[in-house]
Amino acid sequence: MAAKKMTMTTKILIWMGAGLVLGSLLNAFASDVDFVNDYLVMGLFHVVGTMFITALKMLVVPLVTFSLICGVCGIGDINKLGRVGLKSFLLFMLTTALAITLAITVATIVGPGQGFELAEASKGNFTAPEAPPLTKVIIDLIPSNPVAAYANGNMLQIIFFTILFSVCILMIGERGKPISAAAERLNEVMMQVVTVVMHIAPYGVFALMVKTFALQGVGLILPMISYFSVVAVVLILHATGTLMILLKVLGRVSPMVFLKKMRAVQIFAFSTSSSNATIPVTLRTAEKRLGVENSTASFVVPFGATINMDGTAIMQGVATVFIANVYGIELGITGYLTVIGMAVLASIGTAGVPGVGLIMLAMVFNQVGLPVEGIALIMGVDRLLDMMRTAVNVTGDAAVTTIVARSEDSISMETFNDPNAGNVEEVHLPHGEKKTVS
Ligand code: ASP
Repeated sequence: MAAKKMTMTTKILIWMGAGLVLGSLLNAFASDVDFVNDYLVMGLFHVVGTMFITALKMLVVPLVTFSLICGVCGIGDINKLGRVGLKSFLLFMLTTALAITLAITVATIVGPGQGFELAEASKGNFTAPEAPPLTKVIIDLIPSNPVAAYANGNMLQIIFFTILFSVCILMIGERGKPISAAAERLNEVMMQVVTVVMHIAPYGVFALMVKTFALQGVGLILPMISYFSVVAVVLILHATGTLMILLKVLGRVSPMVFLKKMRAVQIFAFSTSSSNATIPVTLRTAEKRLGVENSTASFVVPFGATINMDGTAIMQGVATVFIANVYGIELGITGYLTVIGMAVLASIGTAGVPGVGLIMLAMVFNQVGLPVEGIALIMGVDRLLDMMRTAVNVTGDAAVTTIVARSEDSISMETFNDPNAGNVEEVHLPHGEKKTVS
């Protein structure tokens, strides 16, 4: 009976650790065994891991849509909606700018890449993928065909259309009520689907970890240790320092309680490397565990997953200094200021999906005249850093959501301070007898 007390987060954490160990062992001792590669790593673990990420992605569009309709109809006041939008946008920009400034400062002091063998760099064959220009990003906010926006999961277009649609539900008054009531129920159902999917998370996370570490091997980090550790240290400083100070000062809430409740979200982000795929868990945590009202969370969370990337900006800041050092290029203060501006803008134009940070980095390098092929150098360790920075990205999303909610008085501090609020406990799915799992 007592074993049932283990929370889902603890269980996921244990499975994640087990996956990491097993994956590293397979990499070290069985990387040339065909059976292991074909049937386990690229077979079983690949299938289970991909099914898990797909199950999460499956929830994103319907959850954001229903939740946002409820949120806008719940606010009922268009001015407030504008205020929440503006506040969150400014805070997202601020946290990203702080993140990259911290990254550039620390990297300049530590100086990773000095004395690096340039011969290595010339082996690189990175070709920069096309990054969208800012004008296109702005024009593309409006979907020419909402169905296509939904089908492609284009988050900014979905947010734009859903808000417009929901405001119009409000505008038609009484006759719109059944629609918002239906959206409320559908949202409840989707939240329950999230809870159900969270029950398979330990195994999904385990499979993803085994696959990643079996393929990657931690040994890859060694030649890049200076770059890797500066990024890792700044990521930790930002997540446990900058963001927590902002939470304390602007949000007047306890950073410790926040961090504790964010653990599951960070693990999901870490193992999926995607802020977007993590939206269902971030949203659930913001509402049920941190006590943020749906009216604020439904908008700020998906918005943040798309435009806010603190961790990615940190990687870009350190990578810029690293590559400049490797190639012996002086960027100077204007160069670095351009990098900060570009990184903030680039984060708006690119979605929170795995590996997108490198595309943004190519944009930044082009702008300041650093050799784009230098990116090939850091690609080897990017998979692992992607996991870490995505965990920081989602921490930033939830921190800003909490701060905005606090300023709008749309957060229940009772829920926030209750350590057990919204815990997913280990329970069996209903089998005739009902049991609440959220
Ligand atoms: N994977 C990151 C995210 O989804 C983006 C990146 O840095 O590549 O937030």
